[in-house]
Amino acid sequence: MADIYPPDYLVHADLPTTEQFTVTSVNGKVGVGVRANLPFARGTRVATFTGQLSAQVLQHTLQVSPSAHLHDPWFVGLLTHSCAPNCMLDMQRLEVWALSDVQPGDLLTIDYAVTEDMLHRQFACGCGSSACRKWITGRREPPNEMGRAYLAGLEAKKVKRIVTRSPRKLAR
Ligand SMILES: [Zn+2]
Repeated sequence: MADIYPPDYLVHADLPTTEQFTVTSVNGKVGVGVRANLPFARGTRVATFTGQLSAQVLQHTLQVSPSAHLHDPWFVGLLTHSCAPNCMLDMQRLEVWALSDVQPGDLLTIDYAVTEDMLHRQFACGCGSSACRKWITGRREPPNEMGRAYLAGLEAKKVKRIVTRSPRKLAR
């Protein structure tokens, strides 16, 4: 068993260990994520986390207040986004809580728009949930140019499917 955070982060004994979680690569393309090694029941605390305060939004920061961000490239900053996540963050107490039952091997997922006003980088989402928003932004920013083009492309595909289907139906 080892601590996930390097020694200079260890401000209390309750931080996550390698017995509880595995930092792992995800599908080879998403980058890294964090998998649970133990089960966690819905409504229970999964972990506490820590980090270093930053005035800037970085790739692995989480927003604490409109002007303060917690930089944690070791644990919570590595959690994967899902539009139907199994976890949520309490940014006041610096805790991860289970929104649904988490089984060993499951990736811990959070909805990035819940904590972040603006993302370091907006991105296309393929989380597979029926509630998937397809393009992920912070909660206080509209989709950027790439996002608008991406969403318009998805919409055009949908329209094309409807249009190409109906004339054939009418012809018969
Ligand atoms: Zn999604």
